[in-house]
Amino acid sequence: MILHDLHVHSIQSACGLHTVLEIVDIAAAKGVKTVNICDHGEASGRKVNFGVFVDKRRFPREVRSRSGKSVTILGGIEVNILDEQGNSDLPKKYFSLFDLISAGFHPLTVPLPSAVRNTRALENYLKHSPLDILTHPCIRSAPLDIDRIVDLSLEYGFALEVNNTNLRLGKTDHEQILRMIDIASTRGARLVENSDGHTFAEIGENDKIEELLAYAGCAGSALFLNRDETRLTAFLKERKNLRLPD
Ligand SMILES: [Zn+2]
Ligand SMILES: [Zn+2]
Repeated sequence: MILHDLHVHSIQSACGLHTVLEIVDIAAAKGVKTVNICDHGEASGRKVNFGVFVDKRRFPREVRSRSGKSVTILGGIEVNILDEQGNSDLPKKYFSLFDLISAGFHPLTVPLPSAVRNTRALENYLKHSPLDILTHPCIRSAPLDIDRIVDLSLEYGFALEVNNTNLRLGKTDHEQILRMIDIASTRGARLVENSDGHTFAEIGENDKIEELLAYAGCAGSALFLNRDETRLTAFLKERKNLRLPD
């Protein structure tokens, strides 16, 4: 189980099946303590305007499940990088609203056919836009230059994701992800484990990540920053402070 799952989609994404309150109940029943609601940017079907959900005056951070357990809800987004120039579907005026800004490459938006071009798109995005988590960097449909991504992660401080649902659905390049974990852990780049849950069966699950780690012979607890509440809290604070409005 993932104690702090930083990548879950609600019905505000075209692909998510549950409301935020249903996700709270699902998470509480599984023992998940934190969920980052990470709905897609507009280019891949976000359904509502950004403001209401990420406004803490309107949607509190701590939400009680029907069983009485409290779950921390973070307001996130999974931004689409749209082209090689690094343009995205996250307008600048929203940068400071989110607890976490994740970004990834998705078939509906970019799919640049080469690792060189996708990596250039990410480099250009980083020149003008914030990034806290790079989602599914080893997805086969959008290859990236893994060595360069680890360099960028160290330079900009964003975390590299290991994505349970993509592993389960066979979307991940196994060789690349093992290489990414190896290089990132050796060089001290940040790694997170996330479910990318769209359904109750996926939220909070890390069974395929555990299998991968066992195969690679690595210990997960020190590997992923979201297995440690203190590290996660420091990461959230650092990232939020980077984009406080002037
Ligand atoms: Zn994604
Ligand atoms: Zn996602």
